[in-house]
Amino acid sequence: MTLIDHLSSLQEKNFHKLIVGAALKDFKSIEEYAYYFTLAQADVIDISAFPHSVISAKKGIAIALRENNSLKEPLIMISVNIGEDPHFRRVEVDFDSCTKCLECIPSCPSEAFSSVNVSNDSHFSYNIDLCFGCSNCIPTCKDNALSFNSWNAYETESLIELTQLGASAIELHLNNDLGKFSEFYKKIPGDYLLESFCIGSNTASASELKTGCDSVIEAVYKKHPRDFQFIIQVDGIPLSGARDINIENKDQFSINKAKLIIEYIAQNYPEYKDQIYIQIAGGTNENSLENAHKQNIPINGVAIGSYARKKLLKASTKVEAIKLAKDLVKKFT
Ligand code: SF4
Ligand code: SF4
Repeated sequence: MTLIDHLSSLQEKNFHKLIVGAALKDFKSIEEYAYYFTLAQADVIDISAFPHSVISAKKGIAIALRENNSLKEPLIMISVNIGEDPHFRRVEVDFDSCTKCLECIPSCPSEAFSSVNVSNDSHFSYNIDLCFGCSNCIPTCKDNALSFNSWNAYETESLIELTQLGASAIELHLNNDLGKFSEFYKKIPGDYLLESFCIGSNTASASELKTGCDSVIEAVYKKHPRDFQFIIQVDGIPLSGARDINIENKDQFSINKAKLIIEYIAQNYPEYKDQIYIQIAGGTNENSLENAHKQNIPINGVAIGSYARKKLLKASTKVEAIKLAKDLVKKFT
């Protein structure tokens, strides 16, 4: 797939990014998601910024393309954070405090916890590579054996290695440290086919979103020519699809924030309004793009993450998983 394909999806307001996860490191899972998301014809597959994640995603994509060589090849996007971000954390187990009560096992949508019975003795285990930081398990542990470990932006030297391995798109999660973002952004390779900037969440105020938007636009056009095109991703409820949050229309948080940013760019940066693409994430599902357009909010694309993974995990056969994946990329006219 070329940049032209992606830009046309964005221009046609039908762009779909499917997210494997900024924290997920389990290579088999990454390969499988990349395989299904390629069959679904996602424009971009978003993965964690580690060498083996890129290699695994490439493998999954290649298998799908071998099965059907008429498919378009999605871009591999690596997600990088600047500052604390719920997408960039994993749970750790303190095995000294763990009483092997097994209460956490059913809470994990990623099946990171497991137990086996050997000679009437239960053995509890945890695969941190499957964790994507949803936080479901934390309240289930009454022995305080579970806690989060976050990490920060991947070193720029390693980003070059990831690009060489096949990552051709990048997303930077800004959070609130905008000075650090500008410094970091200056140093990263400038030759990605596609750049995306994730601003805000359901807790970000309107003024924080606007400031984030200003910082991105300033940093991008210091580095790139004035006609450079990129994505601003407006985040809603992070990792909402992994939890049964009892809120109707969870995607409405990000749709409302996207409306605010679209209007802000049109008023304050009219010269860029047709080349800064707005994408929503967080609380999103296969109907979110259409939902926004029905409300006359002209977003360019949607990113679907934990909702997509949760759906695929429910599939009991490969055929069912392929169908569920294809249902996620609902193009509309
Ligand atoms: S429940 Fe969520 S946070 Fe806990 S281990 Fe599973 S994926 Fe990680
Ligand atoms: S809930 Fe806590 S104590 Fe129980 S098995 Fe899980 S980590 Fe161990």
